[in-house]
Amino acid sequence: MQDHTQPLHGLWGEGHYLFGGQKRLFVNPALGCESGCRYCYLPTLGLKLMDKPRVTSVASLIQALDSSIAWIKGQTLISVGCYTEPWARTIKPNTRSLLAYFREHGNPLQIATKQPLTGEDVSFFAKLFKNSKSFAFFVSLPVATNIKQLEPNTATYSDRVGNIAMLLNAGVPVVLYIKPVLPRETIKNLRKYVHIVQRYRIPVVVGAMFALHGHGNKAPIAPFSGLSEDSNQDARIIIKELSRFAPVFENSPECMKVFQ
Ligand code: SF4
Repeated sequence: MQDHTQPLHGLWGEGHYLFGGQKRLFVNPALGCESGCRYCYLPTLGLKLMDKPRVTSVASLIQALDSSIAWIKGQTLISVGCYTEPWARTIKPNTRSLLAYFREHGNPLQIATKQPLTGEDVSFFAKLFKNSKSFAFFVSLPVATNIKQLEPNTATYSDRVGNIAMLLNAGVPVVLYIKPVLPRETIKNLRKYVHIVQRYRIPVVVGAMFALHGHGNKAPIAPFSGLSEDSNQDARIIIKELSRFAPVFENSPECMKVFQ
């Protein structure tokens, strides 16, 4: 299978709106992010933090997708928003349209966000993905305390746990997404993570941080940039502990299989 297509043209390429290939395709309704996470890798890819994200039209994305053989309708795993926050207020409408487009084609789909959800958002996800075996909503929670300092423009801890509860109540598949594991920081929240998985029994992804010239696998979102997994002992400890209560994975494509 073709994967991680080299930069092509138009909207395609690493650090661009569309990136990836037939196995996994990353789709970004915008480029850039105003969430301000201190550990964000976007600057490594030339995307400035806190600049207004560059939103492109859904029509242009769909046109580029429809005229490409880089993905397979109904099969390719689609990850929405690796170079942006897809549920930011100004980006959300386009993200919704893209999710509906991929849903129509039956592709496996995943989205991760650190933003709060409204009741209307939850109804949207329930309408498209209730009891779905090919969709997962990743509630991103690399830290559960210190959020204001480390992820200033994101949802509070309570709002993120609220997202989990609301989505599950609406029948939408949810994953707890602990990525990246920040050395000596994420592990401080282990008790909170245990509390979440004990209470909601949802699968978990615990993922290493990406670093320039790290020692692990190349970062799937940026294999040409020099970013790769920089595994640390903290991740191993978190995985071991959470595995007592729920299925735990080290990457999101593997985790998607748990719903099938
Ligand atoms: S939400 Fe994601 S893309 Fe946005 S600043 Fe944080 S880590 Fe970067």
